[in-house]
Amino acid sequence: MKPAPFRYARPATVAEAVALLASSPGEAKLLAGGQSLVPLLNMRLVRPAVLVDLNGARELERIDPAPDGGLRLGALVRHADLAAAPLVRERAPLLAEAARHVGHTAIRNRGTLGGSLAHADPAAELPVALLALDATLGLLGPRGMRRVAAAEFFRGLLVTALAEDELLAEVTVPATPRGPAAVANAIEDALAHLGVVVRSLPITPEQVWRWLSAAKPAGSGEP
Ligand SMILES: Cc1cc2nc3c(=O)[nH]c(=O)nc-3n(C[C@H](O)[C@H](O)[C@H](O)COP(=O)(O)OP(=O)(O)OC[C@H]3O[C@@H](n4cnc5c(N)ncnc54)[C@H](O)[C@@H]3O)c2cc1C
Repeated sequence: MKPAPFRYARPATVAEAVALLASSPGEAKLLAGGQSLVPLLNMRLVRPAVLVDLNGARELERIDPAPDGGLRLGALVRHADLAAAPLVRERAPLLAEAARHVGHTAIRNRGTLGGSLAHADPAAELPVALLALDATLGLLGPRGMRRVAAAEFFRGLLVTALAEDELLAEVTVPATPRGPAAVANAIEDALAHLGVVVRSLPITPEQVWRWLSAAKPAGSGEP
């Protein structure tokens, strides 16, 4: 099947993208990697009047260090870059490992952090990783940026705190929790938040912690 007709806009900045959303209330859809949206368009389950392609807004591709030892990530960071970027592997190894397990190479090359979070599929890797890491999401709209904890962002199956006129601009990840107990608690809380019931994990917190530590560069000085 082919999508229903729509107008196509490719803003060059995030500010332009926000203005386009505001000018078509409830009728615009954002396009990032297209890995979840394009099938929905093709099946005509989604019929936007305007498709706002975020891929021209290069400022959304950043992977920056945060002063607290964490990360600031733009919404257009691809899964493949999350998995490979030395800064992500060093500062949030859980996130890098989670990204490595998303789909296959083609999906990881196109799919984006913002797209995965905004799509809010409870079976997806990145939402649970960011819940476990206590990330904060920056939602940008005509009234400016509001920051929402990951635990407040996910409202249910494919439902988020994003308003119609907002886009997900950035994700800040605090320094990774340290030690096996912290990791186990964080993962258990995140899964519970997404409604996933875990009877028993096939791994121990110590194994997860050893695995995270091994993902860090040699000589980083962390336990
Ligand atoms: C064959 C296949 C296998 C997959 N396997 C996995 C898997 O194993 N694990 C996994 O986690 N995922 C998997 N996915 C999904 C994949 O990770 C997608 O990339 C992701 O869900 C959506 O990201 P995207 O950038 O492609 O977003 P898009 O498809 O472009 O958009 C998805 C939704 O998010 C909205 N959106 C996009 N960006 C923003 C933004 N910045 N702000 C607000 N709204 C936005 C769009 O309007 C749309 O509603 C798979 C997909 C396919 C096709």
